Amino acid sequence: STQIQLANRPTGWPTDADFRTVTVEYGDLGPGQVRVANEFVSVDPYMRGRMIDTRSYIPPFALDETMTGGAVGRVVESTTEGLPVGTLVSHQYGWRDIVQEDATGFRALPEPPEGVESSVYLGMLGMTGLTAYVGLLTIAQLRPGDTVFISGAAGAVGTAAGQIARLKGAGRVIGSAGSAEKVALLTERYGYDAAFNYKDEPSVRKQLREAAPDGIDVYFDNVGGDHLEAALDVFNDGGRAALCGAIAQYNSTTRTPGPSNMANIITRGLTLTGFTVGHHFDQLSEFTATMGQWFAAGEVVHDETVVDGIDNAVDAFLGLMQGQNTGKMVVRIPS
Ligand code: NDP
Repeated sequence: STQIQLANRPTGWPTDADFRTVTVEYGDLGPGQVRVANEFVSVDPYMRGRMIDTRSYIPPFALDETMTGGAVGRVVESTTEGLPVGTLVSHQYGWRDIVQEDATGFRALPEPPEGVESSVYLGMLGMTGLTAYVGLLTIAQLRPGDTVFISGAAGAVGTAAGQIARLKGAGRVIGSAGSAEKVALLTERYGYDAAFNYKDEPSVRKQLREAAPDGIDVYFDNVGGDHLEAALDVFNDGGRAALCGAIAQYNSTTRTPGPSNMANIITRGLTLTGFTVGHHFDQLSEFTATMGQWFAAGEVVHDETVVDGIDNAVDAFLGLMQGQNTGKMVVRIPS
């Protein structure tokens, strides 16, 4: 098995030197074990936070151990009736092509819909789709007619959030992303009503004000920093923000200055709520049913950016942090 380990805790942008590729030989299966050949391995922004040793909602990655994280694969050997050979499974054993462990570490998945690859369980029908669903509906309490602003709109969570907002009756959905191509996709493919490139002039504040002349009711924040400040500027009274991520600061080596307009939270009666999806797995079955129906009815499009080979997992992760992906970034493991 080829596996990628964390070799150093990076400062600022991670580099190849912070990781190490190792080969692990597995022995025969013990009782109640499975060997799984991964089909797709997930790379996610939260992994940057786990590379450093700090207090957070999940413990840091261990040095000199294989990077953990979401993956989907197929059982190729088994000593348990519960997970026979051929079963599609998801697990958290991360950045490796083959994994062999006790069957309890794996969850059986249904076969993906016709014409769709199993990577959909890492994206629209998996953790990122659930994040968008919980963030909009439970955390931000989206109501029909609301004007919604979503940052990081062309990424995995963002493409899900924009489409869920539309399907749940939002009045106007505005997105921001980091390239002209992504901005075009937001309105042409992901159902956004208006979109802007945050890297363009004028500032995010001015661009958001132009896109939301009547203000916003809901902000789904994937970015933090200047995007959060811009949202606070244009919030209507009683507005609600779901604070999902702050990717603008994940590789920063200095403290990020806070928004200068926090007093708007007081004067407009705003509610800003942070959340992590791991505390909302109780909504997984409702989400799976709802999203599954939308998906089957062709009401949701699911895009991904695929990088081939576990040896390129670090490049895929760095590419994700640099915005090389549209939709979900995944690493495909050739069979
Ligand atoms: P994405 O697919 O959105 O990929 C990350 C994207 O972030 C890039 O494609 C890039 O797009 C954008 N980006 C990078 N740097 C910046 C920057 N400085 N300013 C603005 N945008 C930037 O990843 P995910 O969908 O997996 O995650 C999106 C967010 O949601 C992250 O903040 C992540 O941490 C968070 N998250 C939170 C969860 C929770 O439980 N709270 C669960 C899952 C994700 P662009 O080209 O537009 O710059």
